[in-house]
Amino acid sequence: MTDFSEQMHTFPANSPLQLLENPFPELVNIRLFLKRDDLLHPLVSGNKCRKLKYNLLAAREQKFTTLLTFGGAYSNHLYATAAAGQEFGFRTIGVVRGEELAKVVRNKTLLACEAYGMQLHFISRTEYRRKDEPDFLADLLHQFGPCYVLPEGGTNALAIRGTAEILPEIIDQLGDKPDYVCCPVGTGGTLAGLAQSTADGMNVLGFLSLNATEFHLPISGNDIARCQLETAYSFGGYAKTTPELLRFIQSFDRKTGVLLEQVYTGKMLYGIYDLALKGYFKTGATVVAVHTGGLQGRSEALNLQSKS
Ligand SMILES: *Cc1c(COP(=O)(O)O)cnc(C)c1O
Repeated sequence: MTDFSEQMHTFPANSPLQLLENPFPELVNIRLFLKRDDLLHPLVSGNKCRKLKYNLLAAREQKFTTLLTFGGAYSNHLYATAAAGQEFGFRTIGVVRGEELAKVVRNKTLLACEAYGMQLHFISRTEYRRKDEPDFLADLLHQFGPCYVLPEGGTNALAIRGTAEILPEIIDQLGDKPDYVCCPVGTGGTLAGLAQSTADGMNVLGFLSLNATEFHLPISGNDIARCQLETAYSFGGYAKTTPELLRFIQSFDRKTGVLLEQVYTGKMLYGIYDLALKGYFKTGATVVAVHTGGLQGRSEALNLQSKS
């Protein structure tokens, strides 16, 4: 096995920037690119790679051997942390929302977490709400020993340092700054990184995948003014879908050959299409959408229906 710092040096590798040829059902005069962060790593998917990188380096530097984090039963962040633990030699503990889940058959996300060696610790929804309280954390650390703690969704200052590397890569690949850069928004860590690295004359658009009332941006001051949050494409809230959204994802797959999932990237691209067809983007604009990965959580229903 290669040395940790050497391994981290190339993690994540650069991801391709892909121009979509005639992606729209009618003529729309913009160039739409995908920044394919879904291809960054076979297991540690998309933006979770970016968000983990500097945290893994900090954990190693501070001599932690265990990572502890939080998530729901379908969490891409839990999955990515488990896979990164296996890849980079950390023990991992996942604190999962819902004590009832301990007794039922694991879903595929949690099964994969366990297969990567993550120890799952199920707690009630009431306890889970206390996950950021110091005494609650102290109890967990008492139980599990010293751990490098990552918040739910993985967003902290070091995560944003990682997502701030996406846009400079895009500008390098394009040879120019795009007019618009778009990403899906869960905790806002990816959007915050784009906002931090944006340049004059550029627009940063975040597509919220949950209801606006449930959301707090993790950035302050100038960075907020540098991005715009689209709240009209949450399709009823986090992890909610509609038949229309699923149909869109299937037609996008057929047209472009690129797989999306229904929680984040599908909602973002639906939003971009809707805005583009309404003439929102200026004529000739270059629009880059960050494909943040998450395909481990792609609904089986998307495969079944597309065959019929
Ligand atoms: C976690 C995740 C997001 C949300 O990223 P934030 O930084 O929390 O806003 C977006 N897309 C995918 C595929 C994800 O897994």
